[in-house]
Amino acid sequence: ALILGLESSCDDTAAALVTSDRRILAQAIVGQNEAHRPFGGVVPEIAARAHVEILPDLIRRVLGEAGKSIDDVNAIAATAGPGLIGGVMVALLAGKGLALGTGKPLVAVNHLEGHALSPRLVDPDLGFPYLLLLVSGGHCQLLEVAGVGEYRRLATTIDDAAGEAFDKAAKLLGLPYPGGPAIERLAAEGDPKAVPLPRPLVGSGEPHFSFAGLKSAVQRAVQCNAYRPADIAASFQQAVVDCLVDRTRLALGRSDAPALVVAGGVAANRAIREALQKLAASEGRQFSVPPAWLCTDNAAMIAWAGAERFTRGLTDPLDAPARARWPLDPAADKVRGAGV
Ligand code: ATP
Ligand code: FE
Repeated sequence: ALILGLESSCDDTAAALVTSDRRILAQAIVGQNEAHRPFGGVVPEIAARAHVEILPDLIRRVLGEAGKSIDDVNAIAATAGPGLIGGVMVALLAGKGLALGTGKPLVAVNHLEGHALSPRLVDPDLGFPYLLLLVSGGHCQLLEVAGVGEYRRLATTIDDAAGEAFDKAAKLLGLPYPGGPAIERLAAEGDPKAVPLPRPLVGSGEPHFSFAGLKSAVQRAVQCNAYRPADIAASFQQAVVDCLVDRTRLALGRSDAPALVVAGGVAANRAIREALQKLAASEGRQFSVPPAWLCTDNAAMIAWAGAERFTRGLTDPLDAPARARWPLDPAADKVRGAGV
């Protein structure tokens, strides 16, 4: 089957054509980093307006590049949340319009399911179940993925997400948004042992995460003027690596899943990829992480999640809602409340 994927839940506008046998026929993405840079973060209203202007061209472009018409498409997959609601509505309404106009089915994709299933687009050997470390701009969770739509959350962050921590630390260091890539570049010139920083929750009995205290420690390190920025960046990155590895090791001990998978924007980080690959090897698990371009937001992962759902008969009505919040494991959310 041929799936058109549309994404606009944050500050990237994207479209892609992907087949259910893992061929990416075309993809296009336009980021808005420059537009939001003066504000040090994403401004929702600016993002939503930009999506409206950019998305129609991207849809035409991917169809043209693949030499396909909309009639060749078997289903239209659009991110329906979670994210900035004004942005989410752009891709979802575009998808609904195309579905209505062509009579093709709509798949309303959870952006987090896009991240969660993305490794399967490039790794045909990755079957279910797997333990997923989902590390992105808005999330830091450990989930057992038993199948498409079957997620059991083992842990989450009690304060900031991992990507949020990178972005906040970068801001403190005067680095441009988004902070993750900027920190990674600066860290390459620094000493990860130079600055003593905390490892919040490391060693604690539940595999949850916390990064707020680490951010405050970075703030103190910056303000005391005693350290090189590169050393702070390298030490911060190492602290995040240590937290992710320790928490994931604990969760692996509670899961029989044969594979460990890392996904989400922060999984683009090389130090994090390498540390988790080592952990998987030492725990005797298979390891899978998508290439960096598939970790950060894109429409190929949305089209792929659409393909996974469409081939299982999971399509959505045209009144599918846009959702600002949409947990992968609603049961865990109810039991533990919003933060934990
Ligand atoms: P969510 O997926 O939770 O809704 P999002 O879509 O905004 O949030 P992603 O695009 O998946 O997030 O990831 C963006 C985050 O990843 C940003 O916080 C960014 O700083 C971080 N990031 C990107 N590249 C790297 C990197 N090389 N190292 C560390 N962090 C990175
Ligand atoms: Fe994302």
